[in-house]
Amino acid sequence: MEYFKKYREKTKCWWCGSDDLSGEHKMKKTELEMLYGKVYQNENLINHIKYKTEQFGKNIQSSNSNRIKFEKNLCKRCNGAKSQKFDNAYQKLIEYYYQNRNEIKTARILDLEIVFGEHWLIEYLNVERYIGKHVGCRLAEMGLLPTQNLISFLDQSTDNHDLKVSFQIKPYFIGEISEPIDSIFLGPANPINNSLINPINNSLIKEKKLVTSLSGWYTFANFTWNYLLESSIMKGRKINKILKLDLVDYSKLENISFSINENTIMNDWSKILDRLEYFPYENGDKDLEHYRYVKNIKLN
Ligand SMILES: [Zn+2]
Repeated sequence: MEYFKKYREKTKCWWCGSDDLSGEHKMKKTELEMLYGKVYQNENLINHIKYKTEQFGKNIQSSNSNRIKFEKNLCKRCNGAKSQKFDNAYQKLIEYYYQNRNEIKTARILDLEIVFGEHWLIEYLNVERYIGKHVGCRLAEMGLLPTQNLISFLDQSTDNHDLKVSFQIKPYFIGEISEPIDSIFLGPANPINNSLINPINNSLIKEKKLVTSLSGWYTFANFTWNYLLESSIMKGRKINKILKLDLVDYSKLENISFSINENTIMNDWSKILDRLEYFPYENGDKDLEHYRYVKNIKLN
């Protein structure tokens, strides 16, 4: 059993330990701009985000707002030059998805060689590193540090033993099934102590001090990346250039109506998004269901 270590020196970068901290984007700036542009009116749908974290928060004004950045816990070099390649690879994947989303939804696969060309393996590892950086920032916000293996993976080792990433299409809709909703959803990041899962009734004792695993997700325009950081869960894995995508079936929602009130539109919208995003994990303890989903899914 390996527990995440405490992030005690909050003035130091969680990745390399140096000073001069900056705030990484929780939601990628280019993704915000793809869906919503650069500057946001109060009633712009992007503003549902504030209801995730604070009831009476200020609206998000632009794609550069501090509200969509992590607390400063990564140094400028790690957030800049050292991870530029990760950002570029991730950006390429997202753009490819966004331009070909209908075909991808039908095929339920992504051919990494078509997305990235002959260097697909290097680029794909950089996508995982991009997600690893996000996971590290989320852990740091909780006062925890990622595993040593994740750090060495970010430092260009090709051995990723601890971070599992799985992709999913979540084609939820309001109204017509053929008209999916575009949104950016910063999912939960759940700290779990996997030794406290009761195998008989599958319940979880929540314990914040000793954490073995972090599971969560992020969705951009119906495309979700799920992650689970846990010591050695990926050891011995093989990477296939055909990436399987899990498609969530939302047909059960066809007869369910959601109400949006003009006066509480952002709050209502936020609740609806929550319901849609959590839909695959509705039966049981949602956090635990998601953890088990990522842990058990076969990647190829
Ligand atoms: Zn650093």
